[in-house]
Amino acid sequence: MISGVVLVLLSTKDVPTVVIRSPIYASPAERIEVLSLIQNQTLGDLFSGVLDANSQSEIIIALRQQASPRRMRPGTEVSLRWTQRDPPVLRDVTVKVNPDERVRLFPTVSGWKSELLRTPVITDTVWSAGEIETSLWESVYSNQGLQDMNMNDRAELILELEKVFQWQVDFLRQIRSGDFYRFVFEREVRPDGTMRTGHILSAELVNRGRSLKAIWFDPNGDGNGTYYDPDGNSVRRAFLKSPIALRYRISSGFTSNRFHPILKTWRAHRGVDFAASIGTPVRATGNGVIVRLGKDSALGNMIEIQHSNGWNTRYGHMSRLASGIGVGSRIQQEDIIGYVGMTGLATGPHLHYEMRSHGNPKDPMSVDFPAGDPIPSDDWEIWEVQSIKNLRLLDCLQIGSNINCTVKFEDGIKSDTGTR
Ligand SMILES: [Zn+2]
Repeated sequence: MISGVVLVLLSTKDVPTVVIRSPIYASPAERIEVLSLIQNQTLGDLFSGVLDANSQSEIIIALRQQASPRRMRPGTEVSLRWTQRDPPVLRDVTVKVNPDERVRLFPTVSGWKSELLRTPVITDTVWSAGEIETSLWESVYSNQGLQDMNMNDRAELILELEKVFQWQVDFLRQIRSGDFYRFVFEREVRPDGTMRTGHILSAELVNRGRSLKAIWFDPNGDGNGTYYDPDGNSVRRAFLKSPIALRYRISSGFTSNRFHPILKTWRAHRGVDFAASIGTPVRATGNGVIVRLGKDSALGNMIEIQHSNGWNTRYGHMSRLASGIGVGSRIQQEDIIGYVGMTGLATGPHLHYEMRSHGNPKDPMSVDFPAGDPIPSDDWEIWEVQSIKNLRLLDCLQIGSNINCTVKFEDGIKSDTGTR
């Protein structure tokens, strides 16, 4: 496995000023007691052993100005700051209402007051590359360079990578040992190291010798961006590679001839079976209109969607269909249309998925659709600036060699250098 990572502060405005002072040793003037709510315990219960009845009601009223005391979940962290005097005096109480917000409660001459404290975040950039041995999941999970990122954040990053390339690659069936990836991921990180938001700025996946690149483009800077290839064409395609977004395995591929396990005869299998647990959501792979829906003796609960340019898709054996849809319903790509089941002629839970072009069955795994819409001409100038920047960040990362990146941009954005 080849891997490496560099943490970089991307924007000068995010760089905190650090003043280093010589240490002063003194006995602590305060003691902080950290409690957490247990099951069925209210904040009132927690305060009842700490404050008199009057202060208890005041503190709850003060908290209510910032957050709902009823919504506090078991595990909510409550910090009490006491003086070291005898008897100790409660200085303030801090309730962590969610990862990004804490409410500080403090006594004043006119009773308890509250203030909302937002957790500060810094923006950093994670550069990483690796070779795939079994799966993208396995490779990114075990990437030594990503050790500073917790498992939940790493899982989000992997889902993001899969989303970026979901129109071009089926991550289960088409990934090969020796494929490799590299990506530049920008995130907002809290002081405890957890991530608030993150998205990929640029990524490359080399799949069976074919290089796929995706570059984030957000012309309005409002976070509602999307991905384009280096030529400025959207990575989106008319059809997704897979109707199932979660983990699955292919139990039966596309063949022109196979032995049917129930009918005990040799028949063509004009689709792909995606084994998945009952209830796994099934996504429409493209925009279209439902032309058939209901029970079929072989396909069980099934849906057929008609798309543009003579394409149809079929989804079978579902346990149930999504509510509120019927023949004639307009469907968008990625809409949930039903749930995996084993209705009709099925030996186990799976989704039977078919694609037809003008009535002719096609293997969904090998159909390659033309590139998506290009960058709108009005946005072209912004695209040129953003794409050059994001591609240069990616090109910093050379597979198989030490990472030594220094990227300087005219507008003051800089990076650190680092080696693997
Ligand atoms: Zn099938």
